[in-house]
Amino acid sequence: MAAILHHLNPFVRLGHRNYSLITPFLGIAIPCILMEFYAFNIAKDPNAVNLTAIFIPIILIIFFAFRDGIRGGAIVSGVTIFYYFYIIYTRNHAGSQLISSLETTGVLAVIYFALAGIIGWLKQSLDSLIEREADEKRRLQAIIRQLPVGVIITDSKGLIVQVNKKVDEILGTKLPANFQIGKTRFLEVKQDGETIPPTKWPIAKSLTTGKSVNQVLTIHRQDHKEVVVRINATLVRNRKGVPIAAVSILQDITQEKELEKRKDDFVNMASHELKTPLTSMKLYLGILKKQVKETKTARIISRVQHQTDRLQGLVNDLLDVSRLQSGKLSFSMQSVRLDALIRQTVEELRGSISQAIKLNYIEPLNVNGDSFRLYQVIANLITNAAKYSDANQTIEVGLKKNKNVALLMIQDFGIGIAKEQQKRIFDRLYQVSEDTAKTFPGLGMGLYISKEIMRQHKGKIWVKSEPGQGSIFYVQFPLL
Ligand code: ADP
Repeated sequence: MAAILHHLNPFVRLGHRNYSLITPFLGIAIPCILMEFYAFNIAKDPNAVNLTAIFIPIILIIFFAFRDGIRGGAIVSGVTIFYYFYIIYTRNHAGSQLISSLETTGVLAVIYFALAGIIGWLKQSLDSLIEREADEKRRLQAIIRQLPVGVIITDSKGLIVQVNKKVDEILGTKLPANFQIGKTRFLEVKQDGETIPPTKWPIAKSLTTGKSVNQVLTIHRQDHKEVVVRINATLVRNRKGVPIAAVSILQDITQEKELEKRKDDFVNMASHELKTPLTSMKLYLGILKKQVKETKTARIISRVQHQTDRLQGLVNDLLDVSRLQSGKLSFSMQSVRLDALIRQTVEELRGSISQAIKLNYIEPLNVNGDSFRLYQVIANLITNAAKYSDANQTIEVGLKKNKNVALLMIQDFGIGIAKEQQKRIFDRLYQVSEDTAKTFPGLGMGLYISKEIMRQHKGKIWVKSEPGQGSIFYVQFPLL
């Protein structure tokens, strides 16, 4: 019985165009035979089914048109009209009664077929709409399945809805059924060497904050392999802005990271190798200069010394960058008089740069830091200010106390930096590569080193700049 009801249920068939012809035929033929049986054998009155013979077919036309489309409805209508002719014939209608019966049958035929047509058409349109949507969904799922990056889709609570093959490949295992991001602990996930709990995973973070999250994480797989994965998680909202899903893209960047590490190792090794001959060269140049009496030759040696200093500066920067990469840059922290350090740096640089340096207001302030590294930051900012402005423009330096921090400002009136570049100039090896900036030599290491040094000092460094107007670099230190 349940199977028959299920077979007849029109809603089960929504979205499928497997319209039946037999079921509507039987669906009307059997009630007609039953009505005839009832009229002649039970009620023993040929007219006992007159009203029922209108009422039941109308319901069946609606039902089968909704179940089997226009043709289903039309079959029920056709059989009904045939049944009406059968009634007229078996009840021996004649004369004016025959004419009025035929007229009524004609009117009912028009109504029945129209009803079958309209409802059947509605049903078929609904089916193609649902089918198209289902096709679209299937296509999307096939694309997601084949994507060369891992894709995890969850509902708004973090429960997994779809995961593609690549995710299994990256994780080296299948995510368990009913996996809920943010709740289920499944794999060990680390960021910068520290294990992070499931609530801090990118999808979980994106679900709680509502923002896109981009993280590079190391995943310890069950087969004891470690993979470095870049994960990008985004929240999907409906038209009203309510979150309905979270999508995250996983990219296995283990090989890239290994290559990067090999490059870093090479730079580290190369700069170490360069450092030793450079130191000897400097030493011998010093000795040579002392022995040379002729001024012209002494001048040439001075120039060579100057270039060797620059080379040494570059090699030191390279070494610092690779030490920063491997976390081996050491700091010896102590109380530093920042104002004195600034004055000393400015005095030392005055000889080598053409611009005038104006000390605006230098408050006496103490910070906890590594004075050599802080000197490096200040010197880098002042040399940059000089490098990216004209010789006749001034550079202004100021230091003041701001609540519980020391704020150092270094301002130039040079070429300035476009808004979109301002964040990136602190990245490793980043240089603004516009035509105007091309003439400036450098490797894009200085600001990266300065930012990292300031991070170690629990301070901050940032820039405010307007192209063509100049830049102000701010350095903030926590006060002692
Ligand atoms: P480098 O100066 O060796 O290229 P840095 O890391 O010190 O490397 O600076 C990165 C980039 O930031 C530079 O290439 C330059 O384009 C930009 N920049 C830094 N300081 C300034 C400044 N004061 N004015 C304009 N541009 C600057």
